[in-house]
Amino acid sequence: QTLFVPREVLEGEGRVAASPDTVKRLLGLGFEVIVEAGAGAGSRLADAEFEKAGARLGKAGDAGGADVILKVRRPTREELAGYRKGALVLAMMDPFGHEGEVAAMARAGVVGFAMELMPRITRAQSMDVLSSQANLAGYRAVIDAAAEYDRALPMMMTAAGTVPAAKVFVMGAGVAGLQAIATARRLGAVVTATDVRAAAGEQVASLGAKFVMTDALKDASGEGGYARELTEEEKRAQAELIAGHIAKQDIVITTALIPGRPAPRLVTAPMVASMRAGSVIVDLAVERGGNVEGAQAGSVVVTDNGVKIVGHVNVAGRVAASASLLYARNLFAFLETLVDKEKKQLAVDWEDELVKATLLTRDGAVVHPRLVEAAA
Ligand code: NAD
Repeated sequence: QTLFVPREVLEGEGRVAASPDTVKRLLGLGFEVIVEAGAGAGSRLADAEFEKAGARLGKAGDAGGADVILKVRRPTREELAGYRKGALVLAMMDPFGHEGEVAAMARAGVVGFAMELMPRITRAQSMDVLSSQANLAGYRAVIDAAAEYDRALPMMMTAAGTVPAAKVFVMGAGVAGLQAIATARRLGAVVTATDVRAAAGEQVASLGAKFVMTDALKDASGEGGYARELTEEEKRAQAELIAGHIAKQDIVITTALIPGRPAPRLVTAPMVASMRAGSVIVDLAVERGGNVEGAQAGSVVVTDNGVKIVGHVNVAGRVAASASLLYARNLFAFLETLVDKEKKQLAVDWEDELVKATLLTRDGAVVHPRLVEAAA
C-alpha cells in the first residue's frame, strides 16, 4: 500500500505531515512512502533526510496512486481532483463553517478524517493535534509578545539601575494558556492568569502564576472539561474584574475558546485604551473571532494610545519545525489504529469511537453526525 505526503499548498504553511522518524515507522506498518520533493522545506526537513529514512521522493501527481494521504491542511479542490477514490486522507480539516469544502471531499470519493475532532480520551492522547499545536502556539505567543515589547521581561538589577519585571496576564488557561504562563515565567515576567473553569486555578498556581478570578463567577466548566459560555451576569462580573487588572499589565495573551461558539470577547476597546503605550496584546483566538476588540487576523495593529495588538494566524506554524514533528507523530499514532499489523494492511474499524468521531466523508457522502445534522 502506498502512502503519500504532499508539500502543503496553502500560502505560508510551513508544516509537513510526516518526519523522517514517522517515515521509518510508516514503513514498519507496511506502507510504501512517497514524500513530495520539498515537502519538508518549511520545517527544516531536507528531502535527503526523508530519503535516508526510507521514503521515495515524488511529485504532486503521485497523490493519484496513494491509498493514504497525510496532510496538514484540508485538501483543496485542485488537490482532490488528483486523488484516487477511496483514498484515506488525514488532515486538520477545519470542517465547521466549510461545509462546501467537505462536500467536495465527499464528491471526490475520499475517506476524510478531521484530526482536530479526535476525542480527548486517554487512548487518543498521542493523537491529540489540538494539544500538540496549541502548546507550541502558547509558547510562540509569548515569544512574539516579547519581540514586540520594547522593554525587557525579566527584572534586571544592574550597576546602571534596575529594570522592573514585565507583568504578563494570560486569559484562558487551557493547553495554550498554560504553556504561555510557563514560557513567560521562564523569561522572568510576573505572571497572572484567569479562566472560567475553577479547575484551572490549581494548574495556574502550580506554574507559579497568580490566579485572578472573582467570587461572583461560578465555575463555568461545561461538557468534556471545556468552558461553557458565560451568562450575561457572569460576563459583567468578569469584565469588571478584568478591567481593573488589565490597566496594570504590560503584556496580555488571550487564548479563550468555547467549543462550537465564536471566541468570547474578553478585552474591550476601553480596556485596551487603559493600557500604557508600548504594551502588547496577543490574541491567539483571532482566527475564531477574536478575544480582543480591534484585533485583526494576520496583522499587528497599533492603537491610538500606542498599544500593539498582535493577531498572527497559524501561530503553531510559526514554530513549524517543532510543530511538524509533533503533528507527524499524532498522525502516525492514529493511522496505526487503522492498520492490521499482522497482515500489514489497512483495516479500518468503522465502529471504533476514534473513527466515528473524526470521519467526515465516506463512499461519496458526508457522514459526520454534526455535519449531517447541520445540513438537515
Ligand atoms: P480551549 O482551547 O477550548 O479553550 C482555552 C481556554 O479558554 C480553556 O481553558 C477555557 O476554559 C478558557 N475559556 C473559555 N471561555 C473563557 C472566558 N470567558 N474567560 C476566560 N477563559 C475562558 O481549551 P483547551 O486548551 O483545548 O483545553 C480545555 C480542557 O481540556 C482543559 O480542561 C484541558 O485540561 C482539557 N484537555 C484534556 C485532554 C485529554 O484529556 N486528553 C487534552 C487536552 C486538554
